[in-house]
Amino acid sequence: MAVAASSVIALNSVSIFGDSSDRKFLPTWQWSPSSCRIGSVHTKPCIGLQCRSRRSFASSSTCVRAKRVEQASSEAAQEVEAPVAIVTGASRGIGKAVALALGKAGCKVLVNYVRSSKEAEAVSKEIESYGGQAVTFGGDVLKEANVDAMIKTALDAWGTVDILVNNAGITRDTLLMRMTKLQWQEVIDVNLTGAFLCTQAAAKVMMKKRKAGKIINISSVAGLVGNLGQANYSAAKAGVIGLTKTVAREYASRNINVNAVAPGFIATDMTSKLGGDIEKRILTTIPFGRYGQPAEVAGLVEFLALNPASNYITGQVFTIDGGMVM
Ligand code: NAP
Repeated sequence: MAVAASSVIALNSVSIFGDSSDRKFLPTWQWSPSSCRIGSVHTKPCIGLQCRSRRSFASSSTCVRAKRVEQASSEAAQEVEAPVAIVTGASRGIGKAVALALGKAGCKVLVNYVRSSKEAEAVSKEIESYGGQAVTFGGDVLKEANVDAMIKTALDAWGTVDILVNNAGITRDTLLMRMTKLQWQEVIDVNLTGAFLCTQAAAKVMMKKRKAGKIINISSVAGLVGNLGQANYSAAKAGVIGLTKTVAREYASRNINVNAVAPGFIATDMTSKLGGDIEKRILTTIPFGRYGQPAEVAGLVEFLALNPASNYITGQVFTIDGGMVM
């Protein structure tokens, strides 16, 4: 289904980069996201020519034209395949919203989780309900063997990896004086070392297979300005920004864009445990006076992953925080 959709995308998409002579600057899978919604786009040529679903009513010349369109579509499909995206920590919250957004936009999505198998499976099912393709993969981002198996799963299913969203994250909040080494280490391991391992493994594939790719790391405003009770988390998220900038420099010549998104307070399980009083205090620090929604973060990630207008952006940190940090 996603391949069929991509064939239509190739015909309909309008690149801001002009004609095909500019394509050498672009990853081969990139397209205009507005033209790649599976449900609406896939049916357009067939409805126009009244051929696929009502073949018996169509004139023979219409059917010949339709066949030519289908042939051109399948040739174009070989040229512009639907991108393959891996989203870590996609069973809940921001990762779930990102996986759904990329799936809706026509990507083939590997939905990673570590514990919530039912929730992750439901995310994959939802992507399939849009006519997309998804694979659910249970694995810990801080275990190298799990990361390698995750990449292999995407390769076995779809042959490549075009987009990596390093989203998996945890918190173990407490004031510095009370923070144990274990609380420090767990947070550094999942948020930073996990992103390092996934980036290293995915970049290897991006370099070899397509010589292009998009890596988006989910950092946090805590990594920019710090936060009480989050020495471990702030350090990890600041580390993610350093990782982003360095990998962006190392892989720019390989056409791999690496950017970070730094959300403020987003309404997910992670923030729901903060409690009413803390939440009230937090809201006074947000000019918009509300938490962000996972879908709002997903929209930004989708732009960085798929929109050709993002092709010249690398090594940047995008805050999305209702104006908290400005
Ligand atoms: P969440 O609702 O707690 O979800 C965390 C996700 O990460 C879950 O899918 C979880 O999988 C997965 N995960 C945790 N440890 C993992 C591991 N070792 N290996 C693989 N997956 C793992 O969190 P969220 O609020 O959506 O946050 C997502 C990202 O945004 C995190 O990096 C977080 O630091 C960042 N962020 C969040 C906010 C916010 O306000 N929510 C603000 C700034 C940045 P299971 O369900 O299987 O446990």
